[in-house]
Amino acid sequence: MKPILIKQGRLIDPEQGRDEISDVLLMNGLVEAVGANLTEPDGATIVDAQDLVVSPGFIDLHCHLRDPGHRGKETIATGTAAAARGGFTTLCAMPNTDPPSDNRPVIEYVLAAARESGLARVLPIGCVTKGSEGLELAEMGNLAEAGVVAFSDDGSPVSSPHIMQQALLYGSQLGLPIINHCEDTSLSANGSMNAGWIATRLGLNGIPNSAEEVMVTRDIHLAELTGGHVHIAHASTAGTTELVRKAKAKGVHVTCEVTPHHLTLTDKAVLGTDPDVSAFGPLSSGAYDTLAKVSPPLRSNTDRMSMIAALNDGTVDFVSTDHAPHGITDKMCSFGDAANGISVLETALGSLMSLVHTKALSLPVMIEKLTASPAKFLGLNIGTLKPGFSADITIIDPDLDWVVDPSKFTSKGKNTPFSGKSLKGSVITTIYQGEIVYGAST
Ligand SMILES: [Zn+2]
Repeated sequence: MKPILIKQGRLIDPEQGRDEISDVLLMNGLVEAVGANLTEPDGATIVDAQDLVVSPGFIDLHCHLRDPGHRGKETIATGTAAAARGGFTTLCAMPNTDPPSDNRPVIEYVLAAARESGLARVLPIGCVTKGSEGLELAEMGNLAEAGVVAFSDDGSPVSSPHIMQQALLYGSQLGLPIINHCEDTSLSANGSMNAGWIATRLGLNGIPNSAEEVMVTRDIHLAELTGGHVHIAHASTAGTTELVRKAKAKGVHVTCEVTPHHLTLTDKAVLGTDPDVSAFGPLSSGAYDTLAKVSPPLRSNTDRMSMIAALNDGTVDFVSTDHAPHGITDKMCSFGDAANGISVLETALGSLMSLVHTKALSLPVMIEKLTASPAKFLGLNIGTLKPGFSADITIIDPDLDWVVDPSKFTSKGKNTPFSGKSLKGSVITTIYQGEIVYGAST
């Protein structure tokens, strides 16, 4: 393995509080040294990072790699390649595969396939319940021994309070969190987008904020009762941020994440591309855009702004993609029938940079929420560029303009509401364990 010397980049490493022009030397898959004007070792690959930002490799706590079982939508090979292109060097794979990750052979398959791809670290998440059916706990101890980093039935909520309570108890004994997709399905029933005037205008059934908040309330209560760690997946409402803020102040072990799309889009995306459409005006030809159908749904601008505030004040712990690749036919249908989900890995950075350019988020905070914060959640020695740590690095150009063209995605999932949109900010090079896995040296 050749040494790599990254020269003259703006190094931002929130874990160490560093933000400075610096060189980074990588040797044998590890960070060897960080500092000004490092000596070039013999045979080193040089990466010129002048005017670029050098960050620890991004960590995604929540993505759907679809493999095993739905390899037409994504495979571990294509998903990790998409991760490399999006600047992610660590992915946590949700267990709603076929078969689901509720047993050791599936976990071992995921780990082996990720090792073979060699493009990103894949950390499996195990099912809370057998088959993610919500009826009976999975063999959580067995899954922990197989190497899962958390438990979740994501795709579905853990609806039974009793099972959630048991899961939190076992999780606390194993030292692992329960990640819940908080949705009271009796409140979201038949809904396909955010409840509000747009749903009314389009004649679609709405999903109220309460569908999420009722279960967040329950889970916070159960975490307090059991001493377990509950993690709220893809928080989407202002009420959720308020509940989590209060629970954290009380000392309850609750954490939460937000997706790039809930930070940057609203339910107006379902109306199509015309930003001026009103409650009474004509509908744009892009209305009923199934590419904007996701669970939880894109919410109101008030909810979106509360997410940004909660990210800045630490109520929301980090950003996760909820990368959910689907085939064309899953989205080429009526809005009600369309699958939920967005292919996110390759647009995450570009869309988040829109918040940096509008000063809603600082660049160091954005990087912290993609590196140090998820690393802390996992309790692993990643997400920072300290000497001796894995040489996982993302180099970005914060000002590069590009247009999203899903046909060029590495992911099999071309389903994105950002299709055709201009973004400013792009990943230039991704290095995983000391190897360039995306982009090139110069
Ligand atoms: Zn979910």
